[in-house]
Amino acid sequence: MSWIDLRSDTVTRPTPAMRRAMAEAEVGDDVYGEDPTVNRLEERAAELLGKQAALFVPTGSMGNLIAVKLHTRPGAEIVVEERSHIFNYEMASAAAIAGVICRPVKGDEGLLSWEMVRAAIRHGGPYYVTPTALVALENSHNMAGGAVLPIAAAEEICAGARALGLPVHLDGARIFNAAIALGVDAADVARPFDSVMFCLSKGLGAPTGSLLVGDRDFIVEARNWRKRLGGGMRQVGVLAAPGLVALEESIHRLHEDHENARRLASGLAQLHGVEIDPEKVQTNIVIFDVEATGLTSAEWSAEFKARGILANGISASLMRMVTHYDVDKNGVERALAAAREIVER
Ligand SMILES: *Cc1c(COP(=O)(O)O)cnc(C)c1O
Repeated sequence: MSWIDLRSDTVTRPTPAMRRAMAEAEVGDDVYGEDPTVNRLEERAAELLGKQAALFVPTGSMGNLIAVKLHTRPGAEIVVEERSHIFNYEMASAAAIAGVICRPVKGDEGLLSWEMVRAAIRHGGPYYVTPTALVALENSHNMAGGAVLPIAAAEEICAGARALGLPVHLDGARIFNAAIALGVDAADVARPFDSVMFCLSKGLGAPTGSLLVGDRDFIVEARNWRKRLGGGMRQVGVLAAPGLVALEESIHRLHEDHENARRLASGLAQLHGVEIDPEKVQTNIVIFDVEATGLTSAEWSAEFKARGILANGISASLMRMVTHYDVDKNGVERALAAAREIVER
């Protein structure tokens, strides 16, 4: 049985072009700044996002942590959305390593507005109030079903925060998905932010790696923190090379994943007891509620698995499916056929 793996877009394997690029990559010692392939990747990432400089990091989590560390001092707070990756899925690194706490704010279906952020910002002073040092947004928002924050909302939050002296970081793990959904360039999504992290290892299909982008001085400091965290890699051009392929090729096909996600959502919406609004699926993530089917998400996962489909629950009643280039239209049809069987069992 060939599996249809919808657990995440991280499960993608490098394409033949990426494998070739890895084999042929020109390399050097990147801790000395001498890996030409890494240098090219960093230049290209900065250019695509319209920022001065970029740093190749092993994971998105490390990229976010370095940004949080550089924008804050121990003992401060950062404002994040309550389902954000930084708050929920980074092993509390903001607290454990950067020494800050997260102030989670509930967005409207994951999306924060300046009103919501402003209400959560705290000023230090004589009242033993922990001061806010950073606002960190997520676009697209993974656990909010790949929801996309409109440019105007991002601009308003960034302008408001900046007027209060606060930097704003973007967890743009899937910034290219957000850009496609908004019909703009990734640089337009990145523009209002002081720093942005994005992943090569998600829908872009590279085996590993993320980029942290920002001002030149910020990236110089980020390089020091990457080394301090054990992320100084040597002939890592072999991993940067597929990233370059991702930035040349993969970004032009992400719209197919969005179409497949909508197809999946529309099919699921027709099933008795499955709750999802396909209109709200903007990118490659589909979250649906199975409570009214009488099965838990764990039972759904097991039923799917018995039918060759891999998908995980994100709560007792919510399932998440993520489309990517290893799942084509037929894969979506197979997943829907399995879901139909499960509902009618
Ligand atoms: C995947 C992801 C990250 C980074 O994850 P790593 O596995 O550490 O690369 C950060 N933010 C979001 C929203 C993500 O989906």
